[in-house]
Formats: sequence, structure tokens, C-alpha cells
Amino acid sequence: MTESAAEVLIEVRDVGKVFANGVVGLKQVSMTVRRGEVVCIIGPSGSGKSTLLRTLNALETITSGEIQVLGQSVHGGKANLNRLRTHVGMVFQSFNLFPHKTALENLMLAPRVVGKVATSELRERCQALLAKVGLADKADAHPAQLSGGQQQRVAIARALAMQPDIMLFDEPTSALDPEKVNEVLDVMKVLAREGMTMCVVTHEMGFARAVADRVVFMEAGEIVYEDRPEPFFEAPRSERLKAFLGQVL
Ligand code: ADP
Ligand code: MG
Repeated sequence: MTESAAEVLIEVRDVGKVFANGVVGLKQVSMTVRRGEVVCIIGPSGSGKSTLLRTLNALETITSGEIQVLGQSVHGGKANLNRLRTHVGMVFQSFNLFPHKTALENLMLAPRVVGKVATSELRERCQALLAKVGLADKADAHPAQLSGGQQQRVAIARALAMQPDIMLFDEPTSALDPEKVNEVLDVMKVLAREGMTMCVVTHEMGFARAVADRVVFMEAGEIVYEDRPEPFFEAPRSERLKAFLGQVL
């Protein structure tokens, strides 16, 4: 299937967000993500990256425009948010694992609540996911016994345990010691290669360049520029992006 023919999983149309205190979070943002695409979102702090990501699974409301995810309107009155969130996994900068549960229990918790799968089968699936993120031997470890990189890999596996169609990552490596960054990015690379649809807010330009199908640049609540990684980084046709890349690269 050619890229342009793949099913649209995320459609953001003219979305605006004004916070209760009057701060403008998003201005007329439009973005389309198709099945299997990896879209990296970059931009300065405060540019609306997290706000955009959070509107996709309705962790944040919108003020105007429309968002459809998996063919369902996310912000209409009829949106089934529990159902939506079972299909859209999210990984944050802070790992947010349940501290009193083991790694394996962290993975099994949400799928068990949603139900419909035998515990033994679920346990097997979750153990396989821990192996996939390189933590087969840490199933019985508690979060405090794990390094930041290991905790973040558990968090990724936990999101995958719901068998989502889409994975959202909000600066998943920003809280990590530099030497732990790659072990998390490597897991994300594998997911991307396997065809997972991903939106990744990141400051890791090397990752964006290597893995993204498209890179989106946000500034002051707007999508200023987007392109395939090569032209995006090599020959950006945007002075604002050039200035930003000049600072970070
Ligand atoms: P980024 O993730 O790109 O750093 P954010 O999406 O977190 O940016 O924030 C975008 C803008 O919205 C910033 O000016 C931020 O201060 C503001 N903002 C974010 N969350 C809130 C909130 N809950 N209430 C008010 N303003 C907010
Ligand atoms: Mg942010």
C-alpha cells in the first residue's frame, strides 16, 4: 500500500486551545497521521507540543476545531474516552509506574480491568512484552529497583500491553541520564520498524532524522513547518525552523 493510501488514524483540523487563564496553547493546528507513520514533533519549550499530544486522547480539551482518532470524534459529546484510550497508548517524560506493583503487574493491570482475556494468556503476553523491551529478567522487580531507562521501557511495555493502534510519546527520554537514552530510543525504533503508528515529541534530533516519516516543527502554538526528515533537517524552507535548528544542533 502506498503511503498516501494508508488509512488516516489521526486527523487534527484547525484546532485551537485557550487555557482557562487565557494562555493560548494551540492556534489553528492541522495534522494528519496515517497508519504506520512515525511523526516526530519538535519545537521550543512552551510551543504547544504536549498540549497537542494530550488533545489526541482527550487528556486536554480543545476550544475550536475537530480531532478524529480512529474514525471517532474525540471531543464531541459522544466520545467514548475509555474506549479511545485503550486504542491510544501514551508514554510520558515521567514514567508513572505504580510503585507498589512489580514490572509484570504494572503491565497486567489495565488489560485485566478492560477484561476479556484469561489471566494466564495475559501473563504470557505481558512477559513477552517485557522480553521485547529487554527486561525479561525484571518481571518481579519493583520500579524503585530499576534504573530510569528500565522504568521507561516498562512504561512502554505497559502501554503496549493494551495492544494499541497508536502510541504517543511525550519527551520519553528527557528525564533520563544521557547513557540511558539510547536503550529507550532503541525500543522505539523497533516499534517503528514493526509498523506502529507513533507521534513522538522529542528533542532527540538524531532519532527524528533516522526514524520519522515526517517531522513537525511547532512554535508559539502553531505548526510552522513540516516535511520528510531529510529536507526538514538538511534544507528547511523556514527561517524560524532554521533558527531553532541552529540553536539545538
Ligand atoms: P511544550 O510541550 O511545547 O513545552 P506545552 O504544550 O506544555 O508546551 O505548553 C504550551 C503553552 O501552554 C505554554 O505557554 C504553557 O505555559 C501553556 N500551558 C500548558 N498547560 C497549561 C495549563 N494547564 N494552564 C495554562 N497554561 C498552560
Ligand atoms: Mg511538553
